[in-house]
Amino acid sequence: MAKRIVIVGGVAGGASAAARLRRLDEAAEIILFERGEYISFANCGLPYYIGGVISERENLLVQTVEEMAQKFNLDIRVRSEVIRIDRQEKEVEIATADGKTYRERYDYLLLSPGAAPFIPPVPGIDQSGIYTLRNMADVDRIKGHVDEIKPRRAVVIGAGFVGVEMAENLRHRGIDVTLVEASDQVMGPLDAEMASLVERALRENNIEVIKQDAVTRVEGAEPLSIHLKSGKKLAADMVILAIGVRPESKLAKEAGLELGERGGIKVDEYLRTSDPAIYAVGDAVEVKDSITGGYALIPLAGPANKQGRIAADNICGRQTKYLGTQGTSIIKVFEETAAATGSNEKTLKRAGIPYLKSYTVSSSHAGYYPGATTLTVKLLFSPAEGRILGAQIVGRDGVDKRIDVLATALKHGLTVYDLEELELAYAPPYSSAKDPVNVAGFVAANMLRGDAKVIHWDELSANEGSRYFILDVRTTVEYEGGHLAGAVNIPLSDLRARRPEIPRDRPILLYCKMGLRGYVAARVLEQRGYQVYNLSGGYDIYLAANQKMGEGLEKDGPLQQTQVQGEEVLQMSTKTVKVDACGLQCPGPIMKVNQEIQKIEQGEVLEVHSTDPAFTNDVRAWCQRTGNTFLGSEKTCCDTVAYIMKGAQPGQSVSCSTAGQSQGKTVVVFSGELDKAMAAFIIGNGAAAMGRPVTLFFTFWGLNILRKNEPVSVTKSFMDKMFGMMMPRGSQKLKLSNMNMAGMGPVMIRNVMKQKNVSSLEELIQMAKESGIKLVACQMSMDVMGIKPEELIDGVEIGGVAMYLGEAEQSNVNLFI
Ligand code: FAD
Repeated sequence: MAKRIVIVGGVAGGASAAARLRRLDEAAEIILFERGEYISFANCGLPYYIGGVISERENLLVQTVEEMAQKFNLDIRVRSEVIRIDRQEKEVEIATADGKTYRERYDYLLLSPGAAPFIPPVPGIDQSGIYTLRNMADVDRIKGHVDEIKPRRAVVIGAGFVGVEMAENLRHRGIDVTLVEASDQVMGPLDAEMASLVERALRENNIEVIKQDAVTRVEGAEPLSIHLKSGKKLAADMVILAIGVRPESKLAKEAGLELGERGGIKVDEYLRTSDPAIYAVGDAVEVKDSITGGYALIPLAGPANKQGRIAADNICGRQTKYLGTQGTSIIKVFEETAAATGSNEKTLKRAGIPYLKSYTVSSSHAGYYPGATTLTVKLLFSPAEGRILGAQIVGRDGVDKRIDVLATALKHGLTVYDLEELELAYAPPYSSAKDPVNVAGFVAANMLRGDAKVIHWDELSANEGSRYFILDVRTTVEYEGGHLAGAVNIPLSDLRARRPEIPRDRPILLYCKMGLRGYVAARVLEQRGYQVYNLSGGYDIYLAANQKMGEGLEKDGPLQQTQVQGEEVLQMSTKTVKVDACGLQCPGPIMKVNQEIQKIEQGEVLEVHSTDPAFTNDVRAWCQRTGNTFLGSEKTCCDTVAYIMKGAQPGQSVSCSTAGQSQGKTVVVFSGELDKAMAAFIIGNGAAAMGRPVTLFFTFWGLNILRKNEPVSVTKSFMDKMFGMMMPRGSQKLKLSNMNMAGMGPVMIRNVMKQKNVSSLEELIQMAKESGIKLVACQMSMDVMGIKPEELIDGVEIGGVAMYLGEAEQSNVNLFI
């Protein structure tokens, strides 16, 4: 006889189980009861619909009742709540929306009722304007409020997944958001120091974050007045309660099914409850934590869906085990992403599991390929064999794939030594030859092998100065921006020379910005007999952990693990000079590099900061052409930092791809229009910055660019005077080649250029003169147009076609503008 299977709950676990049951048993009678109006909707997408990121409501409805019923031959009954389980009779009692009740028999019952948002029992919490978010009805209410009432201020209570996602999405709608969290950190699945990176992202996006405070009552209506434990009062036009969820286990409890310690339904590894005819899955059940072995409530969609599938297998006679949940999760927080898998430190401590931890900061992809950002990786592993116990990552790009690699590694019991060996896909746009996962493995394995002794931020006390000699190996500029109390600054590049300053009577506690330079310095000192501890994760993690958000974190860019070759050179370099080229537009940064490199000695290094997105490519090309060494680049949150060593690396010959060829550039400037004149000078200045001889040869209308802006009294014939009056006099009078709009165009474009920090034509002309560019006015054209030498700006040579041709023959680029 065909099995009769009744499912309670029609979303993640329930719908997944129903589909699998049908695939395994075509004959089974499957009845699915859902209390709400919809089945199989995308609860994870709800916040993004409110924020307008998902624009169509129907896109949230992954399956309609009709489609699913037809596709899988299911009996789906929505607006039908299962209110009682009669285990004796193997029947459930259902209440319909119109108030009727009836019973249905089952052979197997599968419970997937989920978890309900927790509503704190405080006065006024049931006021209108206060919402929870779980289903389509909730999302319609919240979206309706936002669309129609257009609230200005919202308070989100609870800074977990739903709270943070709601804060971001309400912000997308232009609402001022305050996020209130009772504990001392946002995002509970992360450890506090990693969570503070998330908090920084929230604050940077104008979310006000209040921690260690809880709502005690709500008063008023328009606006709502939210009273906090601290005495603070917040005014809001709407409130989202996202304090967490509680398993919907009442039905199971009333049926006498066994519950776990945390109030969830207790199931065995086959997802069977204490009644062998009843299975339970999803947010309502307590699952085995695959790291600690204890039982936990881990309300996530992935486990719920998989459990639905496994329960279906078992109902159909297969013996499939659910081996536990490791809590792999991920969240987008504006531009950042935070992800975790396995246990965090808090859980390991609670469970009494010994662990070690490491922090690494790596580039999301090769630093020299545009758009690289940093990933902060925290790894937790067993001290004995290095088995991975947990990982957390915060960064912009590539967090998802790294956490998934680590989740897979953890699931299969890999160790940090295995991470060192993983062969992961690499090309510059995607990763580095040593992927951040490999780097995390290297650092953790170094710790286990004793190659790197570390000290963690939480092991530091206020009086470390008496125990250790505290050594800051960052640059002086970084040190001056903030440092550990009592720290002495000896930049890594000076370390060998200044080693005698480091005492031998105490251990050394050294640190850099993110840990790598500290590790290199530690290796140098250890090999000379010092006892050294490197601050793991560097000053950044220390600051993050101490919640001085922003301070020091955005300061000078660190070296990245991907730039090892450059770093070794940096170590050898006797001096690093910082150059700030931020805000300058092309060719400004390259011009600045060219100026500054003249001031340093061979082997010394420029550390150039630029906000020009094309800077890395430009400076790399510049180095190739000029025989200097591009050591590498990296992106910080706010700029690109390039490291350039003057001259070739020791043992390397200068590789100028154009060696032996003519290097000059000539440009015939025929046009007298503002935009074309700019183009000519930008190219000329760029070439000059590469050390190339440049000649700009001005002929016909181009001569007007070189005219002085103020009138000059010279004797001219009537025709010459007329000609002179009709033509623009000097750079400031030039028209645009397009959209001149009776002179409005040049005014507008000059304003835009000013706003965008693009040098004006006059500044470009001045730069050209300072760079030694030859400005040649064509004698013949001057004669034809009646322009006298006195009318030209200073520094212009007068020449003929032969001069131009002579220069052109020495050039490998010759342009006509
Ligand atoms: P649910 O999917 O909640 O389904 C339970 C259903 O059972 C409900 O529709 C309920 O109406 C119904 N029901 C309950 N009792 C009865 C009854 N007695 N009779 C009939 N029907 C009943 N997880 C992630 O992994 N990633 C995310 O990004 C993510 N984002 C989320 C965002 C939001 C806003 C929410 C609310 C959750 C999010 N989750 C996310 C969690 C994820 O949605 C849940 O873990 C998952 O849906 C749990 O599946 P479930 O089947 O146990 O419960």
